[in-house]
Amino acid sequence: MTISIDAAFDSGNIVVESLAGTTARLSIRKDRESDFFQWFHFRVGCAVGDALELSITGLANSAYPDGWPDYAVCASTDREHWFRLDTRYDADADGGSLIVQHTAESPILWVAYFAPYSMERHHDLIAWAAECDGVTYRRLGHSLEGQPIDCLEMGSGDTQVWLYARQHPGESMAEWWMEGALEKLTDLADPHARSLLAKCRFHIVPNMNPDGSRRGHLRTNYAGVNLNREWHEPTPERSPEVLCVRNAMDETGVDWAMDVHGDEAIPAVFFAGFEGIPSLKAEQQQKYKDFQAALAAATPDFQVDLGYVESAPGKANLSMSTTQLAERYGAVSMTLEMPFKDNRDLPDPVQGWSPERSKLLAHACLSTLDQIL
Ligand code: ZN
Repeated sequence: MTISIDAAFDSGNIVVESLAGTTARLSIRKDRESDFFQWFHFRVGCAVGDALELSITGLANSAYPDGWPDYAVCASTDREHWFRLDTRYDADADGGSLIVQHTAESPILWVAYFAPYSMERHHDLIAWAAECDGVTYRRLGHSLEGQPIDCLEMGSGDTQVWLYARQHPGESMAEWWMEGALEKLTDLADPHARSLLAKCRFHIVPNMNPDGSRRGHLRTNYAGVNLNREWHEPTPERSPEVLCVRNAMDETGVDWAMDVHGDEAIPAVFFAGFEGIPSLKAEQQQKYKDFQAALAAATPDFQVDLGYVESAPGKANLSMSTTQLAERYGAVSMTLEMPFKDNRDLPDPVQGWSPERSKLLAHACLSTLDQIL
C-alpha cells in the first residue's frame, strides 16, 4: 500500500513530487505572485505502524533557509494537540531537505510548519468573542479576495491599544497568541483584565491577512504583497487589508501597539522596536524599554539577548507597521516575535514552541501592560 498525501484544504500547502510505499518526496508551493515559500500543511493517509519517511525538498531556496537547522516538524492526529516529529535537515540533499521519520500511530497524520490556525477557527474565535460582555465587533474592510478584516473592541479607558497579528499568514502562532489575549481580556474574573479595561480601549485585529492564511502562504496576500512593507502608503489595489486598519487607527489614534509575528530562525521570544524613527522621543523609547524589561521579569519565556539588530538613528524603515505607528502617532509600538523552533532557554522536546505557550505569553504581555500603565 502506498500512503496518500493531501493539502487542498484551508491553509494547506504541499506539492507531491513522488510517492513510493511509505516514502514521499515533497516540495512547498510559492506564495501566489511571489517567490516566498516556507509554510507547509498537509495530511498523510497511512496505516498504523507504517514507517513514514517524508522529505520536503528544495529548501535552500526557501524564504529563510536558516529556519531549518534545529527545527522539528509539527504534527497532530486529532488537529488539537500538536507535537514535534523526529526531523533532520540535510543542506546537501535534493536542494536542501527536511527529512522526517515517524512510525504512524493513526490512519491520518496532520503535518505542518507550526500548529495551523485555519480561517474556520478564526471565524469560531470571532463568533465567540463578539458575544462576550462588553465586546463590540467591527468589520474594518475587506481583503483582496473579499474576506472580512475583523476587529474586536473593548474597554472604557482613554489609552488606545491596538493589537494585530498575521500580517504574515504563515506565522500561525500569532493568532494562537490572539486567542490567548481575547480569552484573558474577556475573563470577568481576571483582575488584570478588569484593570486594563478601565484604563484602555482595545482594538484587536486577530488576522490581517485572511487570503494568505486560507491559501497557505508564508508571507504575502493574494497579490503577492508583504503587508508589513505597506504601512507608509497602503492602497486599495495592493494592500486594502492595511489601508482599512490604518484608517481606523487614524480615527482613534494609537498609544500602544503590538504587531504579533513568528520568526523562522531565532529560537527565542523577543521584541523589535522603533529606534530609528525620525521623531524618536526619549520618553517614548523609555516606555518601550520599561515594558520590555517588565515582560522579561514577568515570564521566563521572554528575553532580551537574542533579536534583530536595531536601526541606526533616523534609518527606520517606515513601511513597517511598528515604525510607522511610532512615527505617525507617537505610539509605543513593538513587533513581537515567537519562534518556529523551540525556545532555547526553556526547551520542550515534545511540543517545542506551541499554541499553548503562545497563549500564555499573551496573558503575560497583558498582565505586564497593566502593571506599567
Ligand atoms: Zn512576520
